[in-house]
Amino acid sequence: MTDFVVAEPAVTSLAVAGDKRRFPVRRIYCVGRNYVEHIREMKESDERDPPFFFQKPRDAIVENGASVPYPPLTADLQYEAELVVAISRPGVAIDPEHALSHVFGYAVGLDMTRRDRQKECITRGIPWEVGKAFDHSAPCGAIHPVSQCGHISRGRIHLSVNGQTRQDSDVSLLIWQVPEIIANLSRQVSLYPGDLIYTGTPAGVSAVGPGDTLTAGVEGLSSLTVTIGSAS
Ligand code: MN
Repeated sequence: MTDFVVAEPAVTSLAVAGDKRRFPVRRIYCVGRNYVEHIREMKESDERDPPFFFQKPRDAIVENGASVPYPPLTADLQYEAELVVAISRPGVAIDPEHALSHVFGYAVGLDMTRRDRQKECITRGIPWEVGKAFDHSAPCGAIHPVSQCGHISRGRIHLSVNGQTRQDSDVSLLIWQVPEIIANLSRQVSLYPGDLIYTGTPAGVSAVGPGDTLTAGVEGLSSLTVTIGSAS
């Protein structure tokens, strides 16, 4: 047993569908701008730009059924429903043809965003952390092993707020599909078991507030529901 001088951080983990064991989260990567219609609604950048990545802290995970406290420093908290890829084995500079062999499974996630702060970061040309990497900013549903759900390259992706549909698209419309995302990211950093990759959101993002219930889904995966709580 190692003795630590302060309390050791807890291991963040996620439920695995059909398994009592859990998926330990190592790092959370997110792809920016990966559906053309969302790039257009954000009035951003070239639609053919290569994928780029940002991170969220792993303890930003919120599990299905839990509450997301309304974060400080924003008056424009927005959801982004995303397909999440869970990595099963180490890899660096992975070929796209072999990329899917590094996938443990898939889940539905929400890339919660302080849109007002993110827009300031873009305007000022500074990093996105304050807009993206805050506490409770990474809700994620149960992970479905590939053995159960197969690989996901198409199927409806959707999100509703209080039962009203706000995002409704198809995973096949990803600009960069999962193998290309894994290939690109693994040229920047080594991937390891426990890594999660949020793959980007389709159009239809908007603001939510305390009391709102968000339900996100991807065809073939169990849905993710969270409620926005009062200010933390
Ligand atoms: Mn996103």
